[in-house]
Amino acid sequence: MTYLDHAATSPLRPAVAEAMAPFGSAVFGNASGSHQVARRARRALDDARERVAQVVGADPGEVVFTSGGTESDNLAVFGTLAALAESGSPCRAIVCSAVEHAAVLASCQAVATSSARLRGIEPVEVRSAPVDAGGALDVGALEELLTDDVALVSVMLANNEVGTIQPLPAVAALVARRAPRAVLHTDAVQAAAYLDLAAAARDAQLVSLSAHKLGGPKGVGALIVRDPARVGPILHGGGHERDRRSGTSNVGGAVGLAVALEEIAAVRDEEGSRVAALRDRLAGGIISAVPGAVLSVDLHRCLPGHAHFRFGGVEREELLVLLDERGVCASGGAACSSGALEPSHVLAAMGVPPDEARGAIRFSLGHTTTESDVDAAVEAVRSAVAELRA
Ligand code: PLP
Repeated sequence: MTYLDHAATSPLRPAVAEAMAPFGSAVFGNASGSHQVARRARRALDDARERVAQVVGADPGEVVFTSGGTESDNLAVFGTLAALAESGSPCRAIVCSAVEHAAVLASCQAVATSSARLRGIEPVEVRSAPVDAGGALDVGALEELLTDDVALVSVMLANNEVGTIQPLPAVAALVARRAPRAVLHTDAVQAAAYLDLAAAARDAQLVSLSAHKLGGPKGVGALIVRDPARVGPILHGGGHERDRRSGTSNVGGAVGLAVALEEIAAVRDEEGSRVAALRDRLAGGIISAVPGAVLSVDLHRCLPGHAHFRFGGVEREELLVLLDERGVCASGGAACSSGALEPSHVLAAMGVPPDEARGAIRFSLGHTTTESDVDAAVEAVRSAVAELRA
């Protein structure tokens, strides 16, 4: 089996599995309790929080553990607007890039409608910042959208579908100049395996993370909140996570996230170069073996593990089935919408015509990928596309 879908989820790193093993059995306490079993869990949670904070260059009190990237993105959008409602701020608009993950886009759409009032939020205007043909933010267009009444700007660190890395430092500088009252959020869920998170957390006040994209466990993530006063809770209850996210803490998950982040921080450059070399071999192999194969984004503009291709004359779902039969796991793009046949909003924003988008496939490599995976995938793609075109 050849697994080239690390952007959907990445297998557990052995060090993560080992570190998590005691949780649920030996260390099963509720970290909010006061007896010795609970205190043991609490120590592990505090330790995990410190380790995550260390990797991102934040204070431990700025780390809010969540159930993953989706919740972190929701907390960034709804939480910012909830805090704004409390503060009586006049800011009435938010800006996000057109290629954000659905967790950001759908949250932004939700706060644009009157149903936001159910959460005590006055509906805001949502402005969409366009991207160029390679999926990179049009910084000039963003500048036009930034005004003094913007409360939140959300620009992902790198795109999940095509892998394009966004110019976050330039965005941060523009936001500071043009929309000084805005909070800048970056969804670093895909980028965290390869890019410097401490730099991202200096540029942005809110950073979304998810463990399972990094060789950590599913169902856990974090939102780094640089200024806690600017984010209100969206889950109400027992007041966990300093009242920013109620719910019994997933201690083992938090430990898994911390270990995955630490391991990545230790090997980032080496792993990034190794994966990029394999990805370049895959891309070169496919371009030579498959007539008319088109790379959607220049490889030097995207994450080391991503190669997004368009194959004319084939339907992506049919191609994915044939690849699966040949033992190759790839994806049509966003993991959550794979299987659905709607056109990708990312490719549409890049100006890819719908008929070209139909044959689009994402290969995403990661920490377990080998040269033989790549060579097997090239051969599988060659024969599957040839079969579909015959
Ligand atoms: N943001 C991005 C960029 C993603 O790629 C994903 C997952 O596909 C998410 C958010 C959601 O993360 P999770 O699966 O942890 O909810």
